Amino acid sequence: MLGLASAAYWVYQKEVAVSQPIAVAFVSSFLIGTFLITPDLDLAEQQVRAKGRWGWLGWFWVPYGWMFAHRGLSHTWIVGPLTRLLYLGAMGVVLYWIITAITGYVGLNFNLQAQLKAPPQEVLWALVLGYYASQWLHLIADGIWPDSGLLRSGKRRR
Ligand SMILES: [Zn+2]
Repeated sequence: MLGLASAAYWVYQKEVAVSQPIAVAFVSSFLIGTFLITPDLDLAEQQVRAKGRWGWLGWFWVPYGWMFAHRGLSHTWIVGPLTRLLYLGAMGVVLYWIITAITGYVGLNFNLQAQLKAPPQEVLWALVLGYYASQWLHLIADGIWPDSGLLRSGKRRR
């Protein structure tokens, strides 16, 4: 994985002159997907490296670990990475509610939406591609291929 990261960094440096925002988006989401948001967060109810990298925020992924069996749906090619994005989104919404409730209670007007601007479409695609690429590399390292869904049923390894 370290080799891949340095390869990604090399590509990043090459690409940086061509189209910076897109390259930065791809590499950063690739690195986030490699180190922070990995399929192995399905083990977050125990100790797992990806969770450890979140530090004290590791508890954030514990419900995800409860919801998904290890190397189950979390380790599929299309839906697996999506479950983590949806989980992040749902938790983000909950967090947003809590923050607006608290800031409203103390009389502050917290308006996150006013500060958020959607990035250009090609940057969004680069983010998605970088993330999916990192997830797929993890699955390949685990020996899970896109067509192995049916073959895999029954035998489950760690
Ligand atoms: Zn795994």
